[in-house]
Amino acid sequence: MQLLTNARLLDGTGAPPRPNQAVLIDGNRIVGVGAEASLNPPPNTPRIDLQGKTLLPGLIDCHVHIWGNPDPDAKPQRQTRIPIKDNAYYKARNLLFALQAAQDTLAAGFTTIQDLMAPNDMVFPLRDAIAEGEFVGPRLRASGLCITLTGGHGTEYPEMAIVADGPQEILKAVRQQVAAGADVIKYMGGTRAAFSPPFRGRPGYTTEEMAVGVEEAHRAGLRVHVHAHSSIEGIKNSIRAGVDSIEHGFPMDDEALEMMAERGTYLCPTLSVNPAALDIIERGRWAFPGSEKQVRYLAEQAPKMIEGAKRIGVKIALGTDAAMPGVYHGGNARELELLVEYGLTPMDALVAATRNGAENLGMLDDIGTIEEGKLADMIVVDGDPLDDIRVLKDLSCIPLVIKDGAIVADRRM
Ligand SMILES: [Zn+2]
Repeated sequence: MQLLTNARLLDGTGAPPRPNQAVLIDGNRIVGVGAEASLNPPPNTPRIDLQGKTLLPGLIDCHVHIWGNPDPDAKPQRQTRIPIKDNAYYKARNLLFALQAAQDTLAAGFTTIQDLMAPNDMVFPLRDAIAEGEFVGPRLRASGLCITLTGGHGTEYPEMAIVADGPQEILKAVRQQVAAGADVIKYMGGTRAAFSPPFRGRPGYTTEEMAVGVEEAHRAGLRVHVHAHSSIEGIKNSIRAGVDSIEHGFPMDDEALEMMAERGTYLCPTLSVNPAALDIIERGRWAFPGSEKQVRYLAEQAPKMIEGAKRIGVKIALGTDAAMPGVYHGGNARELELLVEYGLTPMDALVAATRNGAENLGMLDDIGTIEEGKLADMIVVDGDPLDDIRVLKDLSCIPLVIKDGAIVADRRM
């Protein structure tokens, strides 16, 4: 056992901070939270005195692409004209990149991440190697291959997508991913190809197509997260089909947000993408020529969406889309800053990154809050994120990251 003492506890539930709290850990679980005197640890239990610093649940990012290099100046990841460097070569390079990216993300205090599109034979081995303790890394949840329509978003990465049209093919694709060991199903269904005319802004799958796969995923105990932006009709089709999380979402109207609030559909807004893209466009290094106008439009819509979601009561979970140009692995806390900039309170932003993230992954029984019985995933913060959320962007202000009861980053002086 071990005991953390003298913590200012922000438990992730949205409750106000509590001073002078202690947390008792047994193995990888929290077995007690409260005043130190109330916990009765066995004699000689090792202690860490947190000296009044803030203790938060480990942060959760519900939307990353852990294999992807966000550096707009990086070498292209594919040079298939050189015959010896085939797909397998680049997949292996991506896997090595992914391990480092996962470790950078963990070091930044994100103890759980969800990867929403990768080759099955790259991301599932990485997930399992971390889970089995062969490498230090964040708790990784993964969809593996995405499921998309003919010509849809994702088909530009053929090794990461199943193309499925019509209910029967979608049903089969979902079953394939369940059998392959997916933790979650990712549809690229709410929109057609994201940035390519002439389909830009058109809905993708029909409600009927998506619904059959959602039902099958739910029968297998998996949630369905759908890439949906640029088309309000596509977003509404996704909500009607019963998906669990709308990824991106911009633009939204009140009707869509009311549908989400009523059904409990999550919004995972990935706000980090647009400002990072605009910055790169300004530097003349943008990777998707011809789509600049679209990016500016989405950037304008994002704050309006957050305002509406807050007003109407849509549940928000933090996701960054890390790997998109300029959205760096380990820079995930930028999303917290944007959530606050666009109108959430710092407390609501923290809940989006902890409790709500856990619920959106279907893992609230195990992670997301600091409560008895949960896994011991926690971070220590030197500073008050309720006063200035940006403190979470500064690694020197996160002296300790604890995952599964073990210290995985130690920056104590
Ligand atoms: Zn994404």
